[in-house]
Amino acid sequence: MPLYEFRCESSHVHEVMLPINAEAREATCPACGGASVRLISSARLGRLGSDRAQLIERTQASADAPGVVDRIPGTGSGNSAPTTTDPRHARLPRP
Ligand SMILES: [Zn+2]
Repeated sequence: MPLYEFRCESSHVHEVMLPINAEAREATCPACGGASVRLISSARLGRLGSDRAQLIERTQASADAPGVVDRIPGTGSGNSAPTTTDPRHARLPRP
């Protein structure tokens, strides 16, 4: 879903993620609670592939097609790198 920019009467600009066919032209400003109107802005094609865009895409994809794992992450073969170098931690009881 694309992000739409809204500006309130107090000039706060905020973004709202709406379906591409949404007809919402007004929203409530999260900063002051006032009415805000949708702005006409250019598509942010330059942001595609950014960390934020990738996070949004992964989050949306996890709702429809969550990743399936067959073991607990961090266990199994090949992942025995110690997480600490403190020798006292080696003496702690193990499950
Ligand atoms: Zn505002």
